[in-house]
Amino acid sequence: MKDEIVIASAMGGQVRIHAARTTELVEQARLAHVCMPTSAAALGRTLTVTAIMASDLKNGYEKITAMINGGGPAGTIIAQADGKGNVKGLISDPNLYIAREDGHLDVGAAVGTNGMLSIARDMGMKEPFTGSVKLQTGEIGDDFAYYFALSEQTPSAVGVGVLVDPDSTIRAAGGLIYQLMPGASEEAIEKCEEVARTQKPVSQLIDEGHTPEEIIRMYFEDADILETRDVRWYCGCSREHYFDALRTLSADDLKEMIEEDHGAEIRCQYCGSVYTYTEEELKEILEARRAEDRKSAA
Ligand SMILES: [Zn+2]
Repeated sequence: MKDEIVIASAMGGQVRIHAARTTELVEQARLAHVCMPTSAAALGRTLTVTAIMASDLKNGYEKITAMINGGGPAGTIIAQADGKGNVKGLISDPNLYIAREDGHLDVGAAVGTNGMLSIARDMGMKEPFTGSVKLQTGEIGDDFAYYFALSEQTPSAVGVGVLVDPDSTIRAAGGLIYQLMPGASEEAIEKCEEVARTQKPVSQLIDEGHTPEEIIRMYFEDADILETRDVRWYCGCSREHYFDALRTLSADDLKEMIEEDHGAEIRCQYCGSVYTYTEEELKEILEARRAEDRKSAA
């Protein structure tokens, strides 16, 4: 089954719901970064919530980037998703396998709580909108819920989970987010509280074979399905993209690469693709760089 995000509303529009199945995209991320189970779960949860947030974007070029660093062994986790359903991300340490006594993966211990969750919303304007909150538990779902409440004034429940087999294969991944819209009634608030109390872990529901739409209807009987969107692991980098990135380097840095390395090798931090550039290409960039520097000095 391919990954998808279903958007719905319930209680006459007072509750907005997103349910996602992201098993395949988290598996692709796991393979790209060769993740051990706890790193895979931490990255997978972040990718899933970020993909859900991006499913509300109106234009394909818009982007949402989430960055988490809680001072734990996982280091920095970054997830980026665009309005077309393309999702990518990375984690500083992909080699973590930390479990609790009951065998569950301990994402909170891997991420830590001494740091921030930051969200950048790039709407194609000059400066992206950014908001940050202090990490609450490092479990990621709770941290995003806190972000929605504090930074976007939207009371939210965020369920997100990744089930990983002992051989590190992703068995099931998904998310369920429900949010109270402004002016929600006491009845809608109580309904959401009841769902929060009774809800099974979303990764378990995905593993049992339930579709995102079924998961929504399981808890919100009157839900109206508004939209279904595809999501996928996709980096989108290219040789040209990183060639352009080289053009932004200083003349001194370029000179050093030419004289010491006789070329450049760039590894995309998101997908692991390696691009190589010859000494001649670097010289070409350096010439252009110097011409520009002379122009701005004049
Ligand atoms: Zn890439």
